[in-house]
Amino acid sequence: MNYETILHEIYQESKTLPIIGNVSISIPELTKVDPDKFGIHLISIEGEDFGIGDSNEKFSIQSVSKVLTVALAFSFLDERIWERVGVEPSGSAFNSLVQLEYEKGIPRNPFINAGAIVIADMLVTHLENPKQDFLDFIRMISGSPTIDFNLKVAQSEKDTRFRNAALANFLKSFGNITNDVEMVLDFYFHQCSIEMTCKELAHSFFFLANEGKTISGIQVLTKSQVKRLNALMQTCGFYDESGEYTYKVGLPGKSGIGGGIAALYPKNFVVSTWSPRLNEKGNSDLGMNALELLTTKTGMSIF
Ligand code: GLU
Repeated sequence: MNYETILHEIYQESKTLPIIGNVSISIPELTKVDPDKFGIHLISIEGEDFGIGDSNEKFSIQSVSKVLTVALAFSFLDERIWERVGVEPSGSAFNSLVQLEYEKGIPRNPFINAGAIVIADMLVTHLENPKQDFLDFIRMISGSPTIDFNLKVAQSEKDTRFRNAALANFLKSFGNITNDVEMVLDFYFHQCSIEMTCKELAHSFFFLANEGKTISGIQVLTKSQVKRLNALMQTCGFYDESGEYTYKVGLPGKSGIGGGIAALYPKNFVVSTWSPRLNEKGNSDLGMNALELLTTKTGMSIF
């Protein structure tokens, strides 16, 4: 497969598409990002890298980080994490409160904010230095020691945390947060503020295409855990647009409101895109289109 030519074609064709959406306004610091940035990076399972556009510029990975916190929690708690969070698509917005009430504080899945906050609570309990240990995990799986938090983004999210604070307090009232709420939120805002380039993001997700092994050969999860995490991404990775995304793209993937997407074809490749303009569901419009073009042109999709 000539990925270089295909990425070039996708990049050119994507630029002719109608411009849809705008940068997220929910975190003030993210409104400063140039909406017209656009990058794609693909790493093949053989470890060959292909990048185009702004693929070497850092951006805020936001909710894409939720896959990596679940991976870390999964690695030491295994199936026990599902006692406190479900594996069903939510059909609701990423920051919705309503389902939590009638489902008695058990979030539908770990990729909506409520679920990610419960996973953050598990990591705060299990890690000695939660924020640093999580960062070290990311640096290990990506092979990139310079990956870091963006403290301005973390602070900006903290300053406007009303809805996430409501979710965390609500979870606490059901007994599904065991640590101090502010401590858990602080961890969650930092995990979301992590910045990566498209290349670093694709490298971080490599183990999910490689039966649990990182590029450097470290076994992070078992084959079975990887199957489960990829299945969750497929069904829940794009909030209440997961069905539409699956229909168009046909690859497990996860989006974030920073405009990033990571997606993968097991045993074949990992691809990441970055375009900060979001559609009304909070997903990167151009990124989704680029991935649709990729699976259409290559014929490579899990379906
Ligand atoms: N940090 C964001 C929030 O909690 C993440 C949402 C997202 O990327 O979808 O609102």
